[in-house]
Amino acid sequence: MLHYDAVVIGAGTAGLVAGARLAEGGARVCVVAKGVGSTHLAPGTIDVLGYAPDRVASPAAALPEFMTARADHPYALLGPDAVAESLGWLKARVEAGPLPGYRYAGELDRNLLLPSAIGALRPSALVPETMAGGDAALPGRVAVVGSRSLRDFHASLCAGNLRRAGIEARGLEIDIDVERADENALGLARRFDDAGWRAAFAARLAIKLQADERVGLPAMLGARDPHGAWSDLEQRLGRRVFEIPTLPPSVPGMRLFEILRSALRRAGGRLVIGAEVVDVERSGQAIAAVSTRAGGHDVRYAAPWFVLAAGGFASGAIELDSHWVTHERVLGLPLRGLPAPGEPRFVAEYLAEQPMARVGVAVDGELRAEGAENVMVVGAALPGAVPWSEASGEGIALASGSRAAELVLARAGGTPAGAAA
Ligand SMILES: Cc1cc2nc3c(=O)[nH]c(=O)nc-3n(C[C@H](O)[C@H](O)[C@H](O)COP(=O)(O)OP(=O)(O)OC[C@H]3O[C@@H](n4cnc5c(N)ncnc54)[C@H](O)[C@@H]3O)c2cc1C
Repeated sequence: MLHYDAVVIGAGTAGLVAGARLAEGGARVCVVAKGVGSTHLAPGTIDVLGYAPDRVASPAAALPEFMTARADHPYALLGPDAVAESLGWLKARVEAGPLPGYRYAGELDRNLLLPSAIGALRPSALVPETMAGGDAALPGRVAVVGSRSLRDFHASLCAGNLRRAGIEARGLEIDIDVERADENALGLARRFDDAGWRAAFAARLAIKLQADERVGLPAMLGARDPHGAWSDLEQRLGRRVFEIPTLPPSVPGMRLFEILRSALRRAGGRLVIGAEVVDVERSGQAIAAVSTRAGGHDVRYAAPWFVLAAGGFASGAIELDSHWVTHERVLGLPLRGLPAPGEPRFVAEYLAEQPMARVGVAVDGELRAEGAENVMVVGAALPGAVPWSEASGEGIALASGSRAAELVLARAGGTPAGAAA
């Protein structure tokens, strides 16, 4: 049996943030997860509030009314200050992180409007600096640059949809030699880490560009040194260059994972990936320990505090079974937000707000799970949000992970000794 001050279940944004902040507060923390989370799939931006339901220009201005109107939304439990504070924390960790020079840009006061892979404009509060040059508010024409080697990114489709949104844009292709027919953004990002290769690429691209065009490239500008690769390209091309999120795998999302993992480890926290929680030991109204299975080997973790950051339906932590019964699969906790009996669970339009989307683990006003007094719930496991239509998933994960760590540290006395008591 391993003993910690806090065990975090899940290594997505919410779990890594909670783990890093608990460790920074002096707690002995272990983050256990069956795999990586949505970081490797999502664009790596922190979307705080994009739609409410109309497009939000300023999350800072919209959040107070949004929270008042939705008492059961995670943001209503967290409050605007927790959201703002968590953004500041993340910016600082990015700057102190393992990727030299890499920064996040943006503020809660104004959403940037950035192109998606298909040229739809996405509102986001905090974004990698390598993406910020795609903001629709910036002047100038856009050249979207693709390559037949990256099959999931179509420059002409992206540019066409940007034109429909009122941005003067054109798509162009540039050949990139690849070793594998199914090369993805990560494979190409490794090429961009190579200064010589980058120089040759920039020379071939420069002759295709027109004056006053900024350049949008799929998000693959460097895996190891994205700031170096991106700023070098800007210099060589003499204009703004920006990354456009791709289909998974997401290179900027993987950078965010590395930054958060590094913050956790720097503060002394431990991360165990490949460890699925398969059993729970209860002690009255509390969780005493969890067992994980990794490579056929069971390990038990005991702690006075647990943070459930296992995600929702997308990660498999919440499921609707073949009898139409919904379960929280990790700790067996009660759920909230289920449609009442007889009410529809789904609606026919794929992109419409789905009634099941608001389901999550029932919590009190301070993120504590109903029926398990030493479990804090964070991220996509929380009920009340519709992250896909609100564009709020990463903001909720960041702010709730931060707040849960703060509450655990405060309840445990704010010291490692207190946390362990
Ligand atoms: C493809 C995709 C695109 C997205 N795009 C956006 C976007 O553009 N904007 C936005 O705001 N949000 C987006 N999101 C949503 C956003 O990424 C999530 O809402 C947010 O990251 C949730 O983070 P989380 O840490 O709560 O959960 P997750 O990232 O889902 O992490 C859950 C973690 O729990 C672990 N886990 C699950 N069960 C167990 C178990 N039994 N034992 C141990 N570990 C377990 C998983 O392995 C994982 O590590 C997207 C999500 C996806 C999947």
